[in-house]
Amino acid sequence: MKETILIVEDERDIVKMLEYNLGKEGFKTLSARDGEAALSLAGKEHPDLILLDLMLPGMDGLEVCKALKNESRTTAIPIIILTAKSQESDKIVGLELGADDYITKPFSPRELVARIKAVLRRMKEKSAEVFRIGDFIVDFSKIKVMVKSKPVELTAKEFELLKKLISANGRVLSREHLLNTIWGLDRAVEIETRTVDVHIGSLRKKLKGEGKRIVTVKNYGYSFEREE
Ligand code: CA
Repeated sequence: MKETILIVEDERDIVKMLEYNLGKEGFKTLSARDGEAALSLAGKEHPDLILLDLMLPGMDGLEVCKALKNESRTTAIPIIILTAKSQESDKIVGLELGADDYITKPFSPRELVARIKAVLRRMKEKSAEVFRIGDFIVDFSKIKVMVKSKPVELTAKEFELLKKLISANGRVLSREHLLNTIWGLDRAVEIETRTVDVHIGSLRKKLKGEGKRIVTVKNYGYSFEREE
């Protein structure tokens, strides 16, 4: 699946240049011209990475960074900050606020793409082939789940759900997102979002004590608790 990058920048020419270059590299792009739009898009669309310019109208980039990191739905999305040379001290604040990397304007598209790939690679390494907390083991390549040394039989959809939730690195995933990516449906809401709830219910039951790691976010979706 294509990775999605949210571009937060008010300068149209830069947005166009980024859309072109990222598109060429096989990324899907979304863009927001100010902080408010960025926060709402990030919560709704779950991009894989955010490119965040610090100079924005209204809410500035650092405030946006802080808000993204303080919100459970967006906290795990990696952020690369775009700064001007004159904002050297802001980039340090940005990194302290939880941004993953920064790049100084003007930058070459090639350098930016390399940075993006490096950040995405680091994110993926975090969610490796085998997920393990104590005696709860999920082997993504062998499609096997063990709880307290006993195999757990999951349906294909249940396994995909569990994988999505674990791979989200603590991000909250909306029911619509799960529905669209796992069931591939994009139809009216009521019956289908309940489908997600039903599968989550049986998944929790099958995972026994570990089922409580799947956390319900009321009226929105689910997240996975990775802590011991
Ligand atoms: Ca700007």
